[in-house]
Parts: sequence; C-alpha cells; structure tokens
Amino acid sequence: MTTTEVDLLIIGAGPTGLFAAYYAGFRDLRTAVVDSLPEAGGQITAMYPEKQIFDVAGFPSVRGRDLVTALVEQADQWKPTYLLGRRALTLSEVDDRFHVELDGGAVVDAGAVLITAGIGEFTPRPLPAGNGWLGRGMVHFVPSLEVHRDQDVVIVGGGDSAFDWALALHPIATSVTLVHRRAKFRAMPATVRQVEALGVRIITDAQVTDLRGDDDGLHEVELSVGGESVVLPAQAVVAALGFTADLGPIDSWGLEVDHRSITVDTTMRTARDKIYAAGDVAAYPGKVKLIATGFGEAATAVNNIAVALDPDAHLFPGHSSNAE
Ligand SMILES: Cc1cc2nc3c(=O)[nH]c(=O)nc-3n(C[C@H](O)[C@H](O)[C@H](O)COP(=O)(O)OP(=O)(O)OC[C@H]3O[C@@H](n4cnc5c(N)ncnc54)[C@H](O)[C@@H]3O)c2cc1C
Repeated sequence: MTTTEVDLLIIGAGPTGLFAAYYAGFRDLRTAVVDSLPEAGGQITAMYPEKQIFDVAGFPSVRGRDLVTALVEQADQWKPTYLLGRRALTLSEVDDRFHVELDGGAVVDAGAVLITAGIGEFTPRPLPAGNGWLGRGMVHFVPSLEVHRDQDVVIVGGGDSAFDWALALHPIATSVTLVHRRAKFRAMPATVRQVEALGVRIITDAQVTDLRGDDDGLHEVELSVGGESVVLPAQAVVAALGFTADLGPIDSWGLEVDHRSITVDTTMRTARDKIYAAGDVAAYPGKVKLIATGFGEAATAVNNIAVALDPDAHLFPGHSSNAE
C-alpha cells in the first residue's frame, strides 16, 4: 500500500481545490490533491469546458477549459502531488495526523485536510447500450478535443454539454451526429440554433441500441429511430447524459453536513479540528456558490490551516507581489 505524506490534503481538484493548491504552496505547505475524476477542473471540466465564463475577476471572458489550464499552471509552480481518478473514502486520526484512504488502497497521511468537494463526486448517467465500451471509444466528457480529430463522433444527449461538444468538435471531426431520445432539448435555444446552423446532423426520437467494434476500437453505432434501425459510422461516442452528484463517503466523517454542504465558520473550519472546507461544498449564512467565492474561501482556509499546523505562523501571509 502506498502512503503519500503531506502537510495538506485537498479533496477535490475543481477551481477551488486548484487555487488552494497554489495558495498552499505559497504558504510552504506540501500538498496532495485528490479527485475522483481523471482530469482536474471539477464542474467546469465535466460540464462546461467550452463555455465562456464572464464573472471571474480579471477576465472579461474566459473559456472554461482555459481557466482550468491556467489554474493548473498556477498551482504547478509548487508541484502538488495529483492523485486523480481516486475517491477519498475513509478518514481516521492517527497521532495527530489524518489518514485518508483512497479507492485502490493508497493512503494520504496529512497534517490537515481541506475539502473542496463541490457538489460531490460526479457519477455520469450511464448509456445502457454502451456497457463495456467506456474508455474503448465511449467517453462521458471530452477533456481533449484533439483526441477526436478526424473521427466520426456520435454525441448522445440533449443538454448544454451535448450541444457545446457538438459545436467544439464540428471543426475538427470528420462528422458529428447528435442523437437525442426526444425532439425537445434542455440546451439553451441559442446554442441549439448555432449547432443547427452549422449543419450538424441531429437525430431525435432515437435510442442507441448497440455499439459495435473490435479490438481496434469502436466502428459503428446502431440506433432505433421510430422503430427503424439506423447505423452510423463512429469511432467515438460521447454519452452526455448528465451526472448525478453525491457527497458520498465524506458524509460519514463526523462533520456537520446539511443538504450535501459542510457547515464552516468564518475561518472555513468544519466541526472538526484541522479539517476545513471551501468552495461549493462549504456552507454558512449568506453563501453564494460561485467560482469567485471559492477562490476567496480557498485563501482564507489555507491561511488558517497554516496557523493551525504551526501556531507561530502568521495568519496574513504577506502579499504575493512582494514574494521573491
Ligand atoms: C453549467 C454550469 C455553468 C456554470 N457557470 C458558472 C459561471 O459562469 N460562473 C461561476 O462563478 N460559476 C459557474 N458555475 C458554478 C461553478 O462551476 C462552481 O461554483 C465551481 O465549479 C465550484 O468549484 P469547486 O472547486 O468548489 O467544486 P467542483 O467544481 O464541484 O469540484 C469538486 C471536485 O471534487 C471532486 N470530489 C468530490 N468528492 C470527492 C471524493 N470523495 N473523492 C475525490 N474527489 C471528490 C469532484 O469529482 C469534483 O471534481 C457553473 C456551473 C455549471 C454546472
């Protein structure tokens, strides 16, 4: 069993966790960042990487994917240890340290824990006909557009993500077909119009009945459209059917949890000593769940954690602009 020893364990690599990783480095803390998703970026990466965000301070407009890249770059100057694709399962206290066990058996041994778990772990809604194809041609989200260059891509879903990915993949894929089980879409009408205007093929009232291929990968997708079988060439299927989110194991760590949020005080401390929370998962009266809020909370949490770990440390770290 591998054990990673750090000063601070950050649970959740969304925007709040990534900024906290930068800030913890600035405070000289050795940090590990765990996320159950295989990519950093939290809700942004999973749900809206192609959308422009207009309310991040200093950026009149920034594409979700670009904000995440910049956050990772900012954190990387302190070389946090990323443990991606791993869920944080159990937390125990051993000699004034925390042992957090991840799925797969690895353990993180940390002096303090910062929970930036957002709305919880994402579980993609499954595409039943895609059983066995995940990672072999079927994906639930698109961290890298380039992977799909020159592919025939079938996107399944009728929400914003499905239409955003249709827009983003259209210029580089050989073909993009969007398949939805109804004729009505949840996506923003303006985005639907944009996709239609590009001439992306949209097939409605359709169910995916089979994915077919061989050891080399996926070759085709079979649909049932009004009872008729339609076969499309496809080397990739994006099953964009949405996610369910659940705080999962963290719920049983002895914190004060209300409606999937963890109650914190003004220092972002939870009901347990040396366990802090920030971002969407942290709750207090008047809370507003925004990326900008998470950034501020991350700085507050990490500075207070620095003092909790070393009572001689200053709460105010000085200004980064004065750092060498
Ligand atoms: C479609 C959409 C558009 C939005 N647009 C905007 C906008 O324009 N402006 C804005 O400010 N906000 C916007 N938001 C909200 C914004 O995305 C969130 O406020 C922000 O992502 C919260 O960041 P976070 O880091 O706190 O949590 P999240 O982004 O939710 O990240 C939490 C991470 O924790 C991980 N995690 C949870 N539990 C565990 C566990 N047990 N083990 C390991 N990993 C775990 C999850 O996998 C996830 O990656 C939007 C949200 C959506 C869905």
